[in-house]
Amino acid sequence: MLSALEALDRLRDGNRRFVANLSAAPTDSQARRNELVSGQEPFAIILGCSDSRVPAELVFDQGFGDLFVIRVAGNIVAPSQIGSIEFAAARFGTRLVVVLGHSQCGAIVATLEELLGKATTESKNLRSIVDRVRPALEDLLAGPHDAEDSERLIREAVLANVRASVQQLRHGSELLERLIETDGLLVVGAEYSLETGVVSFIDGVPRGSSALVS
Ligand SMILES: [Zn+2]
Repeated sequence: MLSALEALDRLRDGNRRFVANLSAAPTDSQARRNELVSGQEPFAIILGCSDSRVPAELVFDQGFGDLFVIRVAGNIVAPSQIGSIEFAAARFGTRLVVVLGHSQCGAIVATLEELLGKATTESKNLRSIVDRVRPALEDLLAGPHDAEDSERLIREAVLANVRASVQQLRHGSELLERLIETDGLLVVGAEYSLETGVVSFIDGVPRGSSALVS
């Protein structure tokens, strides 16, 4: 299994190929699919948004068997997401978890609008998503911010939500916490830009396998 930093390198390289229109991951390889029937060893776990514009395998230029992907609106962390990540980390030995938010995220915009009194969420099912996003955005709105600059507020809200999900994964599971402390598991945040296709890792994520983990 790749280390977390090697896995980061592979994702960065794949996103560079994607942005340069040089995607190379095979999508129709029967040989590869046959190889995977007996087992999988995904090198990274991605918690991303359901948004149709952010397919994890494509934006990282990866193929069958490479990524263990959980997608849910707003890349929120609820028990079933934690359970899925625990499963992959424990069963396959995957050592990198990426929370992948994105610009213009509808779940974030909906939560912001509700907090600003511009809209309400009727469905209790949808509300269960908004309620998971809400605390990070409440903190953001409680701090210094420019309420007039809505684009900037949305950008900051997307990042605040990614950071909250990262923290919940780092500290919301005994199993993951132990793997982080003793077994090289890394949980990092990233943002995908709909505008450029670039994935930016946030908050001092190590440069790659040649760098030291700080
Ligand atoms: Zn989204």
